Amino acid sequence: MRLVLLGPPGAGKGTQASAIISKYSIPHISTGDIFRENIKKGTDLGKQVEAYMNKGLLVPDELVVSIVKDRLTKEDCKEGFLLDGFPRTVNQAEALDEELKNMNLKLDKVINIKVGKDILIERAIGRRICKNCGATFHIKFNPPKEENVCDKCGGELHQRDDDTVETVEKRIEVYHEQTKPLIDYYDKKGLLLNVDGSKPVEEVFNEIIASLEGDF
Ligand code: ADP
Ligand code: ADP
Ligand code: ZN
Repeated sequence: MRLVLLGPPGAGKGTQASAIISKYSIPHISTGDIFRENIKKGTDLGKQVEAYMNKGLLVPDELVVSIVKDRLTKEDCKEGFLLDGFPRTVNQAEALDEELKNMNLKLDKVINIKVGKDILIERAIGRRICKNCGATFHIKFNPPKEENVCDKCGGELHQRDDDTVETVEKRIEVYHEQTKPLIDYYDKKGLLLNVDGSKPVEEVFNEIIASLEGDF
């Protein structure tokens, strides 16, 4: 299964990604996670992308595309993959198409998670991430059993630097300008599956699986 998850910031892409990859045993490729990991480690790439991310802007296409191309050639992507947060511009989508064509592969579906602006802001502001294992929680919608402690590994939870009201609003604006055109792009190719992301996590997941398996 070769899948792309599309949706505005805070829509629930990462949350659904964890469930989807465990059901289909495919790797989760999140460009946002790759960048955050590089920032944490202080790599050259991390230094190049940090300012863009903190301003809520997209990282330049050249930096993102080469990382994803490289990742797709890894052994664990042979049977499929789930791209989360990539592509985010038409340019990136075209580069992905070209790379898959070279590899003689095709995307199976693009899952578009739709959520309105007010819910997005509330979700992103309340998001908490485990510093150790990266698991995602929400102070109201998916609280950890113990405040600020990860249920999975006991690690400390923290807030992403870009999850402030101001930056989230900027990211939503950037999404409308640069990422939303991809809905049309993939719809024209007959790959798009629209999912109502405003419902609870499990309902959204069930809807995704039902549409992927053709049980409408
Ligand atoms: P994205 O990867 O699209 O930015 P996340 O999966 O990180 O989104 O989700 C954003 C926040 O919203 C997280 O705190 C997550 O726990 C919470 N969340 C995700 N899906 C739902 C949902 N269906 N209902 C309520 N809260 C959700
Ligand atoms: P979100 O919760 O907003 O969907 P992500 O973790 O996917 O967050 O992305 C966080 C930030 O990383 C983005 O705001 C952007 O700066 C950068 N980023 C991630 N993926 C891409 C991409 N495909 N193209 C450009 N920038 C990206
Ligand atoms: Zn953890």
